[in-house]
Amino acid sequence: MPHPATWLKPLPQGLSCEPGGFFVDPVRPVDRAVVTHAHSDHARPGHRAVLASPATLALMQARLGEEACLSWQALGWGEVLRLGDVLLSLQPAGHVLGSAQVVMEYRGSRAVVSGDYKRAPDPTCAPFVPVPCDVFVTEATFALPVFRHPPAAAEIGRLLQSRALFPERTHVVGCYSLGKCQRLIALLRAAGWDRPVFLHGALAPMCRVYEAQGVRLGDLRPATVAAKAELVGSIVLAPPSAVGENWARRLAEPVVGMASGWMRVRQRAKQGGVELPLVISDHADWDELNATVDEVGAPEVWVTHGREEALIHAIGKRGVTGRALRMLGYGDEDDAGGESPPAPSPRPPPSRGGGADSSPPPLEGGGWGEGPSGRGAR
Ligand SMILES: [Zn+2]
Ligand SMILES: [Zn+2]
Repeated sequence: MPHPATWLKPLPQGLSCEPGGFFVDPVRPVDRAVVTHAHSDHARPGHRAVLASPATLALMQARLGEEACLSWQALGWGEVLRLGDVLLSLQPAGHVLGSAQVVMEYRGSRAVVSGDYKRAPDPTCAPFVPVPCDVFVTEATFALPVFRHPPAAAEIGRLLQSRALFPERTHVVGCYSLGKCQRLIALLRAAGWDRPVFLHGALAPMCRVYEAQGVRLGDLRPATVAAKAELVGSIVLAPPSAVGENWARRLAEPVVGMASGWMRVRQRAKQGGVELPLVISDHADWDELNATVDEVGAPEVWVTHGREEALIHAIGKRGVTGRALRMLGYGDEDDAGGESPPAPSPRPPPSRGGGADSSPPPLEGGGWGEGPSGRGAR
């Protein structure tokens, strides 16, 4: 049984599954990219062929345009695709709509790349499914014991309390456009807030994709054109970059909030001028990371990015071998850097078969469903 280290390798482009002929979440344009989710640090333009969950494809195409990659192929939860000798499937990661773990099996050994994930309930996406494996590849964004996310519903309760206390003021909450925004709306609805939720224009497109994918968000209205009077006592969502700006100051005596796992760090809230920090994260906290490692039962855990030392130390005490991959290019969307889409990279020329660079297998059609040998099923 070949150890996953012999067939799954961290390269500058991303994690390379060599016998399958693809990369997972490549940060540079490649022939075949399996994409865990649509956040900009994982889903980049310029690949020839992209394989992802149906919702991730819809979100990517809305963000990047349908021309951003040459071909797109959807893979539903649990469907198995054979690529050479590699069996590939996707399981939910619970991070944002469509977010997937990539499950790879090669000659009897199994590796799972979690992408970004969380274990806390989220009404806007399918929950994380633990998959037993030989190597579990995890993120470590909040891998310090200080990071323990409170229940999100309790944080939403604090927002509604503040709103009840200051009914004449506009509550404006900073949140990222993909995932956090829709989760906040769903949490507000679950807490009984059935009035309109007002949106900064930058947040509307992703909400439309969520709605089209069947996630009901209720009455959403543009905050930019709404009369100021209408916004008195209302809840407005805006990208983090907008809440500190003139845009937010136009609102009626705004109470500025921010929804992020980083709001655990008081200094961070203070620096951003945030009056109402809401600790709501789409990433696993310290307890979730450790529980997940135990649950999947992998003897070896690879950490792609984040604060790997504490996690590797903690799991080592439980007999699990940790390896820091220190992969570059993955920010996290809770950080300002990860959110804005990267400048489009030039797409590789569509030279099919026998260009100067003959190392990757030539692609036919969608580029999926055939082995690197060039002969293939489907
Ligand atoms: Zn993400
Ligand atoms: Zn990420």
